[in-house]
Formats: sequence, C-alpha cells, structure tokens
Amino acid sequence: MTQLRPVGARRGGGPREPRRCRWCQRPLGARDGPGRPREYCRQSCRQRDYEARHRAAERGLDEGEIIVTRARLDGLQDRLWVLACAIEDVEGDLARSAELDDYRQALGWLLDAARPLVAELEVGPGTT
Ligand SMILES: [Zn+2]
Repeated sequence: MTQLRPVGARRGGGPREPRRCRWCQRPLGARDGPGRPREYCRQSCRQRDYEARHRAAERGLDEGEIIVTRARLDGLQDRLWVLACAIEDVEGDLARSAELDDYRQALGWLLDAARPLVAELEVGPGTT
C-alpha cells in the first residue's frame, strides 16, 4: 500500500469551472431540476470514493489523502511513462520531418499511447 497525496487535484474550482466528479475528475453535466448537485459521474465512482475515504479515516489520513495499492500506482506510472516516451518520439520525428503523413503517424502513435490511460478512467482510478 502506498500513501498518495493527489497532485493538482481540481476539486471545487471557480464558479466558471464545470463541476467535476469527486473521484475521477470527469466533468459533470449540469443537473436539471431541483435537488443537491451531483458529486459523482456514476455510482461506481461514488462507491470507490466512499471506500477510499473509509480506509483513509481508518488510518487517520487527512481529507485529500488516499491509499492506493502499489500495483495500481505502478500500472498508472507505467502508462504515463509510455505516453511520455511517445511524446518525446513524436517531437523528435516532427522536428525532422513534418509532412502530413508524419503528423498522421504521430497522432496515431500518441493515441495508441494515450488510450490505455483513458481505459483506466473507464474502470475508475480505484484501489484494487
Ligand atoms: Zn467519476
């Protein structure tokens, strides 16, 4: 287990910023009708946030600190590393040649590197 203080967590925000899910930070659509504003984009995010806060409370962590497994954090960092390498490759490639085909290839390469991170979001940055 690893204690993790979220970096640059965008919570609350200014009045002009769209509200975001408390768990995955996905922007929340405007709620129509009365009632409390939504805090989560879906039920699984509500559940994960609840579990994370429960564990944090058990261990006496501050609000804003969560616990994630080492495996989960390593997986996320691996995918970020792949994306960072892709960015570097693409910048180098486009510095050498920037024809339309080069941009097409670069975009494909970047998307391939970025998709696993988005897939992570679909599952939710949980703790299992
Ligand atoms: Zn969410």
